[in-house]
Amino acid sequence: MLSEKLHVALNDQMNYEFFSAHAYLAMAAYCTDKSYDGFANFFLVQAEEERFHAMKFYQFLSDKGYRATIDGFENPGNEFSSILHAFEQALAHEKEVTRRIYNLADIALEEREHATSAFLKWFIDEQVEEESTFSTLIAKIRRIKDDSNALFLLDDELAKRSFTPVE
Ligand code: MG
Repeated sequence: MLSEKLHVALNDQMNYEFFSAHAYLAMAAYCTDKSYDGFANFFLVQAEEERFHAMKFYQFLSDKGYRATIDGFENPGNEFSSILHAFEQALAHEKEVTRRIYNLADIALEEREHATSAFLKWFIDEQVEEESTFSTLIAKIRRIKDDSNALFLLDDELAKRSFTPVE
């Protein structure tokens, strides 16, 4: 049994992960429009990862005997002024995800819901990776500045990213 507070918070996070996929899809579309296919691929893979995250919550709720309820999404934002801006938005988004995961972990801890705490551990580790990935790319893009050759090479590198679910 999960408390009402905890199961609602888990369901909210599932929906936020779906919303994250939506936000990254908008970033992918921006990059494709600017002919940066590698950056677009990076964000498309990121969107797939977010759906995978959402489905982990969906499955966990189901395993605990709860039915997942799917919300609608707000507009995730489609306006970006540059590739750098899209990545900065992505990092800000991941920081918000981390804040939400920590909040969930706090509730699980308060309620001594150990199974939920154990489930959330994967997400706590994942958020360290997510923030690090975006911070590193932002540092690279800032260093590149207006060097279009270097930006082309980074775009090429990100074209190779593919989705590999990590359990
Ligand atoms: Mg996520």
